[in-house]
Amino acid sequence: MRRCKRCEKNRSDRFFTGPRGKICTTCQKQARSEAHHRRRVGKTYGLEAGEYDTLFAAQEGKCAICLGTRRQRLSVDHDHRDGVVRGLLCRMCNGRLLTAARDRPEVLRAAADYLERPPAIEVIGHRYASEEANNNGRQRKKR
Ligand SMILES: [Zn+2]
Ligand SMILES: [Zn+2]
Repeated sequence: MRRCKRCEKNRSDRFFTGPRGKICTTCQKQARSEAHHRRRVGKTYGLEAGEYDTLFAAQEGKCAICLGTRRQRLSVDHDHRDGVVRGLLCRMCNGRLLTAARDRPEVLRAAADYLERPPAIEVIGHRYASEEANNNGRQRKKR
């Protein structure tokens, strides 16, 4: 058994390459994949060396919109019109929220107003969805 310097787990010798290996093969793979990711985002989004990490640190590892932390990496969000990098977002915010809002700030502001002041309540008062409709909504959200 040896202790990995990175994940600090005690792991059996077969998880280390060579007798002096300090980092387990799981961590090695992860480090390699992170290095690959950095190079790829660098190339794809024109980020210079270390800029992804600088951004990630500045956002404290959180999605810039929902502030969710993910075990997965955050996506580099860019403006599709001019290609300018805007920040790091989780997949839901980048892929769904902004796409649904068509990248339009006024749509997102209107959505926030809608949720805070639902028009139906003002017009017809409180009406409640059936249990069934509620459950369907929940199931759909899970997917
Ligand atoms: Zn490890
Ligand atoms: Zn998010």
